[in-house]
Amino acid sequence: MSTFVHPFREGSKDQKDLLGGKGANLAEMTRLGLPVPPGFTITTDACRYVMHHGQNPPELAEQVTAALEDVEQQIDRRFGDREDPLLVSVRSGAAISMPGMMETVLNVGLNDETVQGLAAQSGSERFAQDSYRRLLQMYGATVLGIGASMFEDALEAVREDRGAADDAGLDADALREIVGRYQQIIERETGSPFPQDPREQLRGSISAVFESWNAPRAVIYRNAEHIDHELGTAVNVVAMVFGNLDDRSATGVAFTRDPSTGEHGVYGDFLVGAQGEDVVAGIRNTRSLEELGEVLPDAYQELLRTMDVLEEHYRDLCDIEFTIESGKLWMLQTRVGKRTAAAAFLIATTLVDEGAIDEREALTRVSGAQLTRLMFPRFASGERDVLARGMGASPGAAVGEVVFDSETVIARAQEGRDCLLVRRETNPDDLGGMLAAEGVLTSRGGKTSHAAVVARGLGKTCVCGAESLDVDPKAREIRMGGEVVAREGDVLSIDGATGEVFAGRIPVEPSEVAQYLEGDLAADDPGASALVRSVDRLMRVADEVRRMQVRANADTAADAERARQMGAQGIGLARTEHMFLGERRAQVEKLILAGDPAEREEALAELLPAQREDFAGLLRAMGDLPVTIRLLDPPLHEFLPDLTDLSVRIARAEESGRRIEPHERKVLAAVERLHEQNPMLGLRGVRLGLTIPGLFGMQVRAILEAELEVRADGGDPHVEIMIPLVGSVRELRAIRREIDDVTEEVVAEARAGAGAGAGAGAGEELTTRIGTMIELPRAALRAGEIAEAAEFFSFGTNDLTQTTWGFSRDDVEAGFFFTYKERGILSDSPFESLDQYGVGELVRIAAERGRATNPDLTLGVCGEHGGDPASIHFFHSLGLDYVSCSPFRVPVARLECGRATLLEEGFTPQP
Ligand code: ADP
Ligand code: MG
Ligand code: MG
Repeated sequence: MSTFVHPFREGSKDQKDLLGGKGANLAEMTRLGLPVPPGFTITTDACRYVMHHGQNPPELAEQVTAALEDVEQQIDRRFGDREDPLLVSVRSGAAISMPGMMETVLNVGLNDETVQGLAAQSGSERFAQDSYRRLLQMYGATVLGIGASMFEDALEAVREDRGAADDAGLDADALREIVGRYQQIIERETGSPFPQDPREQLRGSISAVFESWNAPRAVIYRNAEHIDHELGTAVNVVAMVFGNLDDRSATGVAFTRDPSTGEHGVYGDFLVGAQGEDVVAGIRNTRSLEELGEVLPDAYQELLRTMDVLEEHYRDLCDIEFTIESGKLWMLQTRVGKRTAAAAFLIATTLVDEGAIDEREALTRVSGAQLTRLMFPRFASGERDVLARGMGASPGAAVGEVVFDSETVIARAQEGRDCLLVRRETNPDDLGGMLAAEGVLTSRGGKTSHAAVVARGLGKTCVCGAESLDVDPKAREIRMGGEVVAREGDVLSIDGATGEVFAGRIPVEPSEVAQYLEGDLAADDPGASALVRSVDRLMRVADEVRRMQVRANADTAADAERARQMGAQGIGLARTEHMFLGERRAQVEKLILAGDPAEREEALAELLPAQREDFAGLLRAMGDLPVTIRLLDPPLHEFLPDLTDLSVRIARAEESGRRIEPHERKVLAAVERLHEQNPMLGLRGVRLGLTIPGLFGMQVRAILEAELEVRADGGDPHVEIMIPLVGSVRELRAIRREIDDVTEEVVAEARAGAGAGAGAGAGEELTTRIGTMIELPRAALRAGEIAEAAEFFSFGTNDLTQTTWGFSRDDVEAGFFFTYKERGILSDSPFESLDQYGVGELVRIAAERGRATNPDLTLGVCGEHGGDPASIHFFHSLGLDYVSCSPFRVPVARLECGRATLLEEGFTPQP
């Protein structure tokens, strides 16, 4: 026979999964000897049983009866006794707190007879009737499913009738009338009278709490918070204590320290003569906890002592619910309290200063997600009118002129004007505009739309899907309900956390934490806040303990410098494709159109010096830190005009009789030749290097010459050349031969003093390492032999996710992904957080096989997952050497790498 019922004295705080958070902590407080009314917990196992079988486990009824008898004995009252009845509360409580989502019924056990006993025993008819009407209302709404407003209206009617300002002003007579009306409502709505049998009340309440697990709002909440629907809730049955008994009774809530600063002190609210959620329901003005010291001094002192015990025991901020019955304190709930991101850091370091925890444990008490929140600028608080609402797609506060196209944004940004890029939706062509804008606002698309995904990656503020806005780029205006609300150039403000859009300029406060992390504010600067000092302290701990290194993905010297400021220990991915854009596009076009080797070589030679300069800039910015440069990856047609555009242009020209330039025809032919059905799976990466003679060779030459140049200037660069999209070791070997040849040439030229760089004589100092990306399943599986030809692997987890799932990211995220989430097939995007079971398995295999043949192999990650906390912990568990992410994510990655090391050592993270 299974045990579904545990008395409080038997459980502990570590049994949250079984007993729920509330039950586990009630048990813990009982064991600590704190004044908790006796009671017991029905486990989450029982709830899961009910979910699967549609009925209670057969042994449950008997176990509940036995546990109730135990409670009866402890307080010497009988459930259903006419003279002196035991009353209980029946409370929900899941493993993960879901505030306000589920149900609780108080005063179970009252009926027309026991209410008389309660009145006689307490000497207060008013109190007994007040308790009864509360039971009727909660039972009616929660167990019988009657709309709460019916009860509220009846109460209101009697209150007005009697001229009472609030509940407290109702006398016994009025409350008796309310009890009568409530019973009528119940009978009318359900066809049967309120159950007088206390056991039936108890059974009904327990079932209702189980069922409240699947109430619509609870389901929605779990979906939003990624909480497993299978967990189920526990049920706590607790002997009632009464804050509504007399004027020496009260109920309240408190924190053991200030939840926004971590300071020790007295924070909370209470009400005299109240029960349950009266304090938080806003029906009466609550009093601040300090006043309790005057009203009920003894109970107050005991409350302070109890809070100290809890703090000492949990070594963290706790929040509590308490009730005072005729001057005696009772504890009804505690848990490690929720807090803002800023408070999490402050509390963690305050606890260190107080000697409660050490610095390492403090690091486990904060998270990368919290750090991210602290890095975004925010709007100063104050009154303001919301113009429209969309989805908060990428947090931050942005203010700027409305601009409808990327080119204008870029132009105005160059003049130093702040702009918001406002579009119906964005597409890849908008990248430049997005980068130059302060923020992005779209009227269509959700959290996985192009705008949202790209903005998050860039750390750019974004509100998407503000559907009430009619964005008209032709008229260059935004309308709402036909009325113009903003023209191009008008200022709007958007909050990327809340999704709010405001007319006009809302004042913005820069994030101090971001200033600190970017190196613009020192932690020991007298102007630095306690929060900055706290972040600094924990970042230092993270850097000290972490085993994985953190690099940044950066393509330009400016990005590289920023990344270094943010603590990057190298560049894990420098993409070379942007170096082929802008003015250089013409040279690339020449390369692609080249009719013979001579033309091709000429084109390559023209590209070389510019590339060399780019690389030298990167290497200088990173000093002696490693810089991984990836050879050209995207399909070549990306550098040519769009096929449709071009065909249309030529067709139009033909129609109007304009002469078609031979060059135009040549370009069209090339575009047609290079057109692919699935460019993502086509001629790109290493395949380009193998089909276009000299292309990779030119890039390698530019890299090596840059290395020599920087060395000659006294630098100590560490260059890593990375080959993309390798699937077979043969591809890698072929490219390596080309690289070796070029290296020999460059070194020989340098020795002869004929190098293009100033590095004469320095050739023998080249320390270039050569490696490959692992971004195809085949590469992961053949990693053993690939590692024989590579000095490092870098997991390109974006492409590896695409190729493992067979998902084209752009199509999936804009398309059926939403349905997949809704149907529960995927909960998180595998592009945001690594799919540890599928893609992660390939990473594990590649790491193992690669290291088996080449123990010196360096293993890193350069996909977006390198900046995602959950993915970082996974990479740590595989023993990878580093993660690389966008500069903005570097601090988050540093923090999470530190936490990953500590959590592996056995710290348990707080929820
Ligand atoms: P929630 O999870 O929504 O906080 P609770 O189960 O904690 O719901 O209970 C709702 C209210 O009833 C709380 O204010 C709680 O303190 C109070 N309460 C619960 N059980 C008892 C009891 N046995 N005696 C007195 N008050 C109780
Ligand atoms: Mg509640
Ligand atoms: Mg509670």
